[in-house]
Amino acid sequence: AEDFTGRQVTVAGLGVSGISAARALARYGAEVTVVDGGDSEAHRTRAEPLTAEGIAVRLGDGATLPDGTGLVVTSPGWQPDSPLFAAAAAAGVPVWGDVELAWRLRGPGAAPWLAVTGTNGKTTTVRMLAAILEAAGLRTAAVGNIGTPLIDVVLSPESYDVLAVELSSYQLHWAPSVRAHSAAVLNLAPDHLDWHGSMEAYAADKGRVYEGNEVACVHNTADPATGELVRAADVVEGCRAIGFTLGTPGPSELGVVDGLLVDRAFVERRHQQAQELAEVTDVDPPAPHNIANALAAAALARAYGVPPTAVRDGLRAFRPDAHRIEHVADVGGVRYVDDSKATNTHATEASLAAYDPIVWIAGGLAKGATFDGLVTASAARLRGAVLIGADRHLIREALARHAPDVPVVDLERTDTGAMAAAVAEAARLAQPGDTVLLAPACASMDMFTNYNRRGEAFAAAVHALATVRTADE
Ligand code: ADP
Repeated sequence: AEDFTGRQVTVAGLGVSGISAARALARYGAEVTVVDGGDSEAHRTRAEPLTAEGIAVRLGDGATLPDGTGLVVTSPGWQPDSPLFAAAAAAGVPVWGDVELAWRLRGPGAAPWLAVTGTNGKTTTVRMLAAILEAAGLRTAAVGNIGTPLIDVVLSPESYDVLAVELSSYQLHWAPSVRAHSAAVLNLAPDHLDWHGSMEAYAADKGRVYEGNEVACVHNTADPATGELVRAADVVEGCRAIGFTLGTPGPSELGVVDGLLVDRAFVERRHQQAQELAEVTDVDPPAPHNIANALAAAALARAYGVPPTAVRDGLRAFRPDAHRIEHVADVGGVRYVDDSKATNTHATEASLAAYDPIVWIAGGLAKGATFDGLVTASAARLRGAVLIGADRHLIREALARHAPDVPVVDLERTDTGAMAAAVAEAARLAQPGDTVLLAPACASMDMFTNYNRRGEAFAAAVHALATVRTADE
């Protein structure tokens, strides 16, 4: 691990990841200053224990670089064009993200990383991968953009054989020296373009995950942009490009044949054409996008040398997280489904494809997205739409352009109570056999703390509706 003795390090952001970075750096001898533009009561409460540990905290100014700074470590949420980073660049000071710091702090013989990125499906795939590795008897954890900060895992006394690491495009942007054993880019669709500035910059940051891979670069055959990123990457000699497909796999691919997940890339015996891994019905839920996630997880596990039986056992043990196409309740013959985690158009298109007819609840923060493609692809399945949130006019306009016959209720609300009103409107539009689907295609932060709260508000409104209906009967 790198020596930080006497180095003056500025940590950007007094959040969970910033605090764990500051503590780790102090432990390795750095002189740490945490800077944050905020200066609320909550900030001061968070700063107190750090100050007591000898870590300086500067509140109310997140823009100027403290004198003498030799390194900046940033939290994932900070915009890349933040004035602090411009000041660092001008002073020739490097900027690292939390992932870069964790990578640099790994001890000798540390667990290799199997990395997953992509616009959608990262968390699901990383958790499937961890389940498969566990089924193979390996000591592992699903880490990165989920759960425990990566730094805490890397520094914990617990030892791991291999880590299943979720990396966001933000984290990859600031992680120049990370080198995975193997990595997968699941898919590439416009998202977070306000942060990255352009689709090209976003793709380039995702593509960083392949740099220096040792064994396999896993890409999505249906999404050629991911294969482009493999070709552009500089990898270790002998590292293979491995595709996954929902169709029949070619050589060096995993795919689906007669309801089975099949591996033609890591075939164990020479005379064998393909290796059966699991049944499609072992995947929960067995929706197409999720089978793709399972294939990507299987590819990484197989690249690490995990046997086929562990792939099957791991997938069977896996259960999806909340707010990802979660069935909430049936009320009056109408199914209510919470996909609050569908925070962009790509994820939303996947869940809208799974139901018909749909009363669609959508809206929130668009993050620079456009909705024409999504609405065009889904219009035929829409019974109606109910719109909430700050950028709902963008969806309303796309519906007017491409689905003028679909009834739209624009709630013109961004308060937290809007969700209950949206569910009531959706219930009015829905007919027995329909699905009311919360798939906002937008981020939640205009109305909620995060997508979990948004999904909880939806579920609460649905349960309240069920209670009212029961009382009526
Ligand atoms: P991430 O960690 O990348 O945000 P999640 O696994 O949490 O991904 O899923 C995010 C959203 O994307 C959910 O709404 C889910 O239903 C949808 N989704 C999951 N996998 C895919 C995929 N491969 N393609 C498109 N959408 C997906």
